[in-house]
Amino acid sequence: MRLAGGVVATTLVKLREAAVPGATTRELDAIAERSIRDAGAVPSFKGYHGFPASICASVNDVVVHGIPDDTPLREGDLISIDCGAILDGWHGDSAITVAVGAVADELAELSRVCEESLWAGIAAAKPGGRLSDIGNAVERAIRAHAPAGGGEYGIVEDYGGHGIGTEMHQDPHILNYGRAGQGPDLLPGVCLAIEPMVTLGRPATYTMPDEWTVKTTAGGCAAHWEHSIAVTEEGPIVLTALPA
Ligand code: MG
Ligand code: MG
Repeated sequence: MRLAGGVVATTLVKLREAAVPGATTRELDAIAERSIRDAGAVPSFKGYHGFPASICASVNDVVVHGIPDDTPLREGDLISIDCGAILDGWHGDSAITVAVGAVADELAELSRVCEESLWAGIAAAKPGGRLSDIGNAVERAIRAHAPAGGGEYGIVEDYGGHGIGTEMHQDPHILNYGRAGQGPDLLPGVCLAIEPMVTLGRPATYTMPDEWTVKTTAGGCAAHWEHSIAVTEEGPIVLTALPA
């Protein structure tokens, strides 16, 4: 799984560099598919329940599952890119949020808070703990911050993390909020994808008529960060981090 995760990690580095003003998400998708296949892996998203591409490209108020298209990215957009690969039957799944050119401070901060909450969730994934410790740590990390414009960040409840291994999506579902100390024990060898989604404004979502694209109902921008990890006696191994 570390090898599969490495394919995803190196692909996301290429995508981060390619997500510049004027680039289209379809071009990013082509870069991703080439990167994954050149590594001897298979893009797990392509054909998954009919999904047409190798990445999900979710711009601004799209939370997750955006379909790549020919719309050029614009300076100031915030895009989340979700990518998955299968290598020798094992899955990796990871997402990053990227600022296209210079973005508003509130969007940069939104992404930073979301990424920080991902790492808080990862740190909670240790033997002796329980599954809901992860979501509790994610929620606390988000609630430690507030948007400069007032109110509080939205924590998306309609989607969450999941087990991962010989399939991309396995039990259990992982909430990004809630009380600690609930749910299954976290045992060494368990592999999980942790993926907080944070919004400016209310976190309620709806799905577009294309049956994939998930947007915030209130129109606020969203960030999404994800890593696949393994629980071990020595602490979590981040399978989708760069090997270095
Ligand atoms: Mg993903
Ligand atoms: Mg996932």
